[in-house]
Amino acid sequence: SSRPQLKVHQPECLKQPINVPSKLLMGPGPANSPPRVHQAMLKPLLGHLHPEFIQIMDEVKEGLRYLFQTRSEVVCCVSGTGHAGMDTTMCNLLEPGDVILIAENGIWGERAADMATRHGAAVRTIKKPAGDVFSLDELEAALEQHKPAVLFLVQGESSTGALQPIEGVGLLCQKYNTLLAVDAVASLGGVPFFMDDWGVDVVYTGTQKVISAPPSMAPIAFSHRAMSKVSARQTPIHSFYSDITWLANYWGCDGVPRKYHHTGPVSSVYALREALALVCEESLESLWARHAACAQRLHEGLAALGLQLYISDPAKRVPTVTTIRVPEGMDWMKVTKYFMTKYQVEISGGLGPSAGQVWRVGLMGYNCTVDNVDRVLTIMKEALDQ
Ligand code: PMP
Repeated sequence: SSRPQLKVHQPECLKQPINVPSKLLMGPGPANSPPRVHQAMLKPLLGHLHPEFIQIMDEVKEGLRYLFQTRSEVVCCVSGTGHAGMDTTMCNLLEPGDVILIAENGIWGERAADMATRHGAAVRTIKKPAGDVFSLDELEAALEQHKPAVLFLVQGESSTGALQPIEGVGLLCQKYNTLLAVDAVASLGGVPFFMDDWGVDVVYTGTQKVISAPPSMAPIAFSHRAMSKVSARQTPIHSFYSDITWLANYWGCDGVPRKYHHTGPVSSVYALREALALVCEESLESLWARHAACAQRLHEGLAALGLQLYISDPAKRVPTVTTIRVPEGMDWMKVTKYFMTKYQVEISGGLGPSAGQVWRVGLMGYNCTVDNVDRVLTIMKEALDQ
């Protein structure tokens, strides 16, 4: 026969057992998942359109409506991580030539601008130094100047630790006939968020942060206004996979029988369902309070160690990601390595504008506990002493 010989052989590495040490993930994500969430992934697979699976998807949608505080019809998940949520936002809301205004104060605004450009939008930015946030007046002046189709804000800028206020922005956007899109990947669940009351048109998050499920999906919600813009498009949505009208159908949001769009990540949806059940059991109010209290304990503890936070105004700090200034002359990586090699605890360095200048400590969902705060403080003290 003319069948060729195998020239690529079984790799040696796959003959070894998988190596997965147990680590405490106190960086800006992913966070560890609780046992109930891991156990959910051991359940048998179902077909992605089986009635029992559809029931689980519906339960996820209800949990997400609670988390986003919305009664919007179109609440679903993109199969992909936070970036997939950002891409879905851009590719559905923007047509070539549309003006998008991006409030840029860290790496996520930069990435949003990159993506919007790829979708052919006319990108306008307003910038603030890393660690700072935008006031309503500044946003209104920029809306007035640019009259954008979309305004994009990042609620929790995880590259700097800044918390952008969202309340009041939706009303401004309505005045200028602008849609408001918010990245809540690093913040949702850790701070209040009210999609409907704040007039947010698109919001997305990630499963691996406060929700504490594995990284795998980007929960996303579109308002009625946002869906009207989608249905009034003159040009097709450039990505089949991220087309919100297809996703909305697959997630049962459009009242039309579900069609096969893609194979949903079945086990990840189970995990998300259980993670959302835990969020509901605890309640949003107490989840927010737990994040605020743990962040405060962390900030006080760091101050007691003589460390300074990157963001001096407490009102501008997102509780989920604390940025700590690396003292002059100190090698930040020695400290992160000390955490990891001695204790298998992750804290991370800076990112984008904060690279080389800070450590970032995450307090997210399951990991956001007094014990974990104290653990980080104890190890930090030890590391600094050395
Ligand atoms: N936006 C923000 C604010 C984030 O913190 C992150 C993740 N660090 C993302 C978007 C991207 O998410 P992912 O890494 O899950 O794609």
